[in-house]
Amino acid sequence: MSWFTRKKQNIESSPKKDLPDDLWRKCSCGEILYNPELEAALNICHHCNFHFPIDSNKYLEIILDDEYKNLFSNISSVDMLNFKANKSYEEILDKVPNDKEAVDCFYGTIDGKKVVLCLMNFKYIGGSMGSAVGEKISKGINFASDKNCPLIILCQSGGARMQEGALSLMQLSKISTHLSRFSKQGGLYISILTFPTTGGVTASFGMQADITIAEPKALIGFAGQRVIKQTTNQDLPEHFQTSEFLLEKGFIDFVADRKELKQSLSNVMEVLI
Ligand SMILES: [Zn+2]
Repeated sequence: MSWFTRKKQNIESSPKKDLPDDLWRKCSCGEILYNPELEAALNICHHCNFHFPIDSNKYLEIILDDEYKNLFSNISSVDMLNFKANKSYEEILDKVPNDKEAVDCFYGTIDGKKVVLCLMNFKYIGGSMGSAVGEKISKGINFASDKNCPLIILCQSGGARMQEGALSLMQLSKISTHLSRFSKQGGLYISILTFPTTGGVTASFGMQADITIAEPKALIGFAGQRVIKQTTNQDLPEHFQTSEFLLEKGFIDFVADRKELKQSLSNVMEVLI
């Protein structure tokens, strides 16, 4: 039996309003952010300066001057191992647009200075490094070498692509070999670490640059914190695996705000080329 009984019958209620469900977003600092405002601010929380992930098209707008060329867009992933888990790799690949990969490479300019820019895309299979990613980045390195210009790789990745097994792991050494040759030829390589940069990408080209830049509060690490905690059986320090922590320990050169990223890259090239 209910505690209260409704005396008036047929009370009219106003029609239910349908609100779009993508108007608001909660930041890790606890603030609720209005999405249109957040997008206008390059997806940076104005309370705590957390940089939400953005896709490669947005980075392209932020970093390069207006004219650029898309490189190697015909290279895409193939299900070589006929891999099947909860979903088959083929099904996963079918959902990725034909001209898209977990990395896009461009040849353009920053304040008039020529550069090869490789932008990883977390939204395509977690930005994971498969054979196509390895091939595109390796070709990007060689292209920068041919054009005698700096190479910039923006990392945004969950690591190696498990659906490609050992073939994916081989990309670490393949890219590292090309980078080593590029470095011996005197090439300048700059890496930008964004939220998140983990696994095989951190263990290879993410950390092999001449200059390593990170966005504020980005998650950067190799293994997950839970695994490290269980393995070492120790409490982890505060801000572990963040840009600021890595800066303090000397793993990165500086932390740059997304709004100042282009200027920072331009300054580094001005000094080092
Ligand atoms: Zn925040």
